[in-house]
Amino acid sequence: MTNMKEDTIAAIATPFGTSGTGKVRISGPDAINIGSKIFEASSGIDIKEADSHTAHHGYVENPKSGKTVDEVLAIVMIKPRSFTGENVLEFDCHGGMVPLEAVLELTLEYGARMAEPGEFSRRAFMNGKLDMAQAEAIIDVINSKTEKSLNIAMEQLKGGLSDKVNNVKDDVMELLAHLEASIDFPEDEIEGFNSNQLEERLKKIKEPIQKLIKTAKQGKLYQEGIKTVIVGKPNVGKSSLLNYLLQENRAIVTDVPGTTRDVIEEYINLDGIPLKVIDTAGVRESEDVVEKIGVEKTRESLKKADLVLMMLDVSQGLTKEDKQVYNLIKGQPTIVVVNKTDLDKNIDIEELEEQFKEHPLLWTSVKEEKGMEELKNTILEEIFHEQINVDSDVMVTKVRHREALNKAYQSIEKVEQSLKDGMPYDFLTIDLKDVLFYLGSITGETVTDDIIDQIFSDFCLGK
Ligand code: GDP
Repeated sequence: MTNMKEDTIAAIATPFGTSGTGKVRISGPDAINIGSKIFEASSGIDIKEADSHTAHHGYVENPKSGKTVDEVLAIVMIKPRSFTGENVLEFDCHGGMVPLEAVLELTLEYGARMAEPGEFSRRAFMNGKLDMAQAEAIIDVINSKTEKSLNIAMEQLKGGLSDKVNNVKDDVMELLAHLEASIDFPEDEIEGFNSNQLEERLKKIKEPIQKLIKTAKQGKLYQEGIKTVIVGKPNVGKSSLLNYLLQENRAIVTDVPGTTRDVIEEYINLDGIPLKVIDTAGVRESEDVVEKIGVEKTRESLKKADLVLMMLDVSQGLTKEDKQVYNLIKGQPTIVVVNKTDLDKNIDIEELEEQFKEHPLLWTSVKEEKGMEELKNTILEEIFHEQINVDSDVMVTKVRHREALNKAYQSIEKVEQSLKDGMPYDFLTIDLKDVLFYLGSITGETVTDDIIDQIFSDFCLGK
């Protein structure tokens, strides 16, 4: 990264494609100056003289050719009252790629540098506008798949997770100060400091960390969703089930992978958990059953699946095909869905229960919409084996945060062990400092430049 304090960056901050409006954002010491060179306000005011947080109608013009590039609304934000903490000028343009690119080009020609992905957010972090956990929440807000996942991301963006982490850090720091004082002045009795009381205080530090760690599994599910595959021989009702679930609970977002195939992957909103059902249909013409279910494709999807719904047809009994399908998914978390219960049963229930005794087994009729509630509940139960009561939307959603919390937790356990072993207090302080380090890495105080680079490189351009 170049020395960012010095220069001014610009990028298109809205998605590619056409829309009502689009935004070109300029941030840095020269932002307003650059704007002043290429923007003519209808009011005649020079944008350099504009007050902070004012909007100005006018035209972006090419000073050399005199040509008008776009009609815009210019929004002025003087540092530090902006997203990045720097001077920011935003041009609300017409939302086509040509006017947006043309306005961007002019800002670059008149002194701005093209922003790198995530550079605006990075500057916000560097200028103390956001801590690291908050900055990371921006991506989650943008990618939220259900309202619940948005709530969790917003809570983190507002500093909910950081507050909890900082509270623990305060406790650790206080304890550390006491320990160090008692090392320096061993003859002075410090109140609240025999080893029982120390143990108590360590426990108090451990508790909230453990609670946060426990939210991690759930947090990840809300943020990333559950990859689910529906498998079964042809005609058991896979597409019918998928359509039913989508119809009832379609999430508002869709993923458009764009590159390989033009499939749109849709999410089902299951009590706020985004369920991403991976499509294994469309391969049913082949004679060979194993081929029929598209072995390679299915295997690939299966490997990535968090949950498998294995469908059987009650009117057909357990066939060789079913067993072949089952062989493919052995070892995966699976719910067995015995479908078409509206038809005559032709299945040996004992054999069925014996064969699938490791899995929850449900009876459904997608046609008559029977067993659908049970199916949803069973999916939720399978996902949340150990149901935990989360009292708020503060959840750990990032692997990075979970690992830092785990390490902090382990370091406290080391302190406890040293205390038990009667080690000198110097020993304890070393591990306590590690606790501070790991907690600080969540909010970004103790992360290295490499990690900062890595985190912000995941951001999209213009963010
Ligand atoms: P897939 O090949 O596994 O995707 O199966 P489909 O969803 O295409 O369903 C195959 C046929 O079974 C269709 O004609 C469905 O209408 C029918 N079907 C699906 N579910 C049920 C059910 O619960 N009962 C009955 N009687 N028919 C069903």
